[in-house]
Amino acid sequence: MAAIAIDGPAGAGKSTIAKRTAKALGFIYVDTGAMYRAMALFMLREGVDIRDTDAVADAAKRAEITIRHEGGEQVVILNGENVSGSIRTEEVSQAASTVSVVGQVRERLVALQQELARTADVVMDGRDIGTVVLPDAKLKIFMTASSAVRAHRRFLELKERGEEADEEQIRRDIEERDERDRNREISPLRQADDAVYLDTSALTIDEVTERILALWK
Ligand code: C5P
Repeated sequence: MAAIAIDGPAGAGKSTIAKRTAKALGFIYVDTGAMYRAMALFMLREGVDIRDTDAVADAAKRAEITIRHEGGEQVVILNGENVSGSIRTEEVSQAASTVSVVGQVRERLVALQQELARTADVVMDGRDIGTVVLPDAKLKIFMTASSAVRAHRRFLELKERGEEADEEQIRRDIEERDERDRNREISPLRQADDAVYLDTSALTIDEVTERILALWK
């Protein structure tokens, strides 16, 4: 099956672009971050100390995470419950980057991601897709933007949803999460040797999507 891997730091525009690219090509969009978020939500709900890697590894066995597609949108299921609406908070974002350092968590989710790519053409986004999950993907993109631009985009997104946001705080949170994702021992965020580097700071969504579609062709 065909696969496009898109990796990069938080807020670079990966999910927006991956969704559009998938739609244009008739591929399935797989948001792997949502799986780590669902795992984090499970830990928070269960009262697991997320800094205790043994406790996280043990609790992870009780979290059954799957995904479904409804009307072209990915839906994440945690132990039978649709949690797509509950995983987009800042608390879950930070917790996802904390639990994602645990090897047992990654093993389970990577297996699920690889299974999805075996059965469908996918555009998959995350942090380790080009390096670990789909090392044979035909096209790999490493997408980034300055942290100021990424924070500003996130700020506008929250404002649009009517939520209060402090842009400076968002920027600090994003930088903290990137730092953890880049420096963890297992599958850190890094550009695969054969990935195309794409800085989206000064590009529109359409421009980035067109670049990727052109690369795919
Ligand atoms: O992409 P998103 O911001 O939803 O991901 C949340 C967190 O999940 C990331 O900060 C990262 O720690 C983790 N993640 C990961 N590997 C992936 C996707 C996400 O470790 N493939």
